Amino acid sequence: MPHPLEWIADALNRLEDQGLRRTRSTRSTSCRAHRIEFDGQSLIQFSSNDYLGLAAEPLVPAVRNAVDAVGWGSGSSPLISGHGALHADLEQRLAEFEGTDAALLFPSGFAANLGAITALAAPGDAVFSDAKNHASIIDGCRLSGAQIIVFPHRDVTCLRSLLAESGDFRRRLIVTDGLFSMDGDLAPLDRLAELAEQFGAMLMVDEAHATGVFGADGRGVSQHLGAEAGIHLRIGTLSKGLGSIGGFAAGSRSIVDWLVNRARSYIFSTALPEATAAAALEALRYVREEPHRRSQLRERSQLLRSELRQQGWDLGDSASQILPLYVGDPQDAVTLSAELRRAGLLVPAIRPPSVPPGEALLRISLSYAHPPSAIDALTAALHSRRPQRA
Ligand SMILES: *Cc1c(COP(=O)(O)O)cnc(C)c1O
Repeated sequence: MPHPLEWIADALNRLEDQGLRRTRSTRSTSCRAHRIEFDGQSLIQFSSNDYLGLAAEPLVPAVRNAVDAVGWGSGSSPLISGHGALHADLEQRLAEFEGTDAALLFPSGFAANLGAITALAAPGDAVFSDAKNHASIIDGCRLSGAQIIVFPHRDVTCLRSLLAESGDFRRRLIVTDGLFSMDGDLAPLDRLAELAEQFGAMLMVDEAHATGVFGADGRGVSQHLGAEAGIHLRIGTLSKGLGSIGGFAAGSRSIVDWLVNRARSYIFSTALPEATAAAALEALRYVREEPHRRSQLRERSQLLRSELRQQGWDLGDSASQILPLYVGDPQDAVTLSAELRRAGLLVPAIRPPSVPPGEALLRISLSYAHPPSAIDALTAALHSRRPQRA
């Protein structure tokens, strides 16, 4: 009889043959915003979601003070005794930041999506999900037991006809990323809000990559496109632009109360250490008081996008600090990423299943913390490897 785990070695070998096997490198220095030491090599990295340059140092004093005051672990889930004063303060501040009645802290953005979708949709309901939504949204949809109706990426016309044909479901939920994490493009939230209103559907938007970066006050693509009033639930993460850890949901008092009662990833998971809430509170202060971080990042992103497009790279519809270089073949993506790494630049290759088959890409993520010299080094390295036009 074969060993019961033998299939795993076979499956890993198949991934290896297809250029899809994932391995990890170990960071040997602290995560400075743009420099990283990786397997002993010092690199300029374009691989972090620390878009505002807050993760490495700026939040540390707030964390240190909080740890001195309240210690570390929370000890239990929020409904038992894990919900502390700093958590409550952060939820209040998040609601003020988002301009909603209330907000709820989750252990992560992944947990927020999973908990929110499973609380809002159940068998008998339909969830309309953009084809390029994040894995945590996809898993939330699956776990809800609702009928999942995937609409083509950002295709409002198609979504309208799908909604028109879906009268038999009890309730309907439209769910989308605000800023798509691999393609860097924006969801048409203003038009999705119109559709939600027209069809009496719920609308939930995941602003993970846009919080702190998009919108006059940093509230995300919802604010950028003037669509906030039509969105019932906004999901955000504290782990990207805000440089900390944790996720949140923001909306009306009743929707947040419902999540407290029904979101299993909230109820059955230990509350984050309160010091992480102190970090997020400090990050919100930066977002409020240092708007030049986001405006400068957006300007530099735009310059880099146009420069790389001029070099001949295909960046799709990227309109943000996330710049995909579409390469297509996963091996080509890995090769290009390895060449850049030898040149001192960390630009990760993104392969299936993170992207659809045939859409392997290099994902550049730009941060406020990148000095112009780092961006120049990247454009120079990409210029000498630019695709040859047919
Ligand atoms: C990263 C990400 C999440 C998960 O957030 P974490 O806080 O890292 O768990 C959710 N949604 C989107 C779109 C993301 O990119």
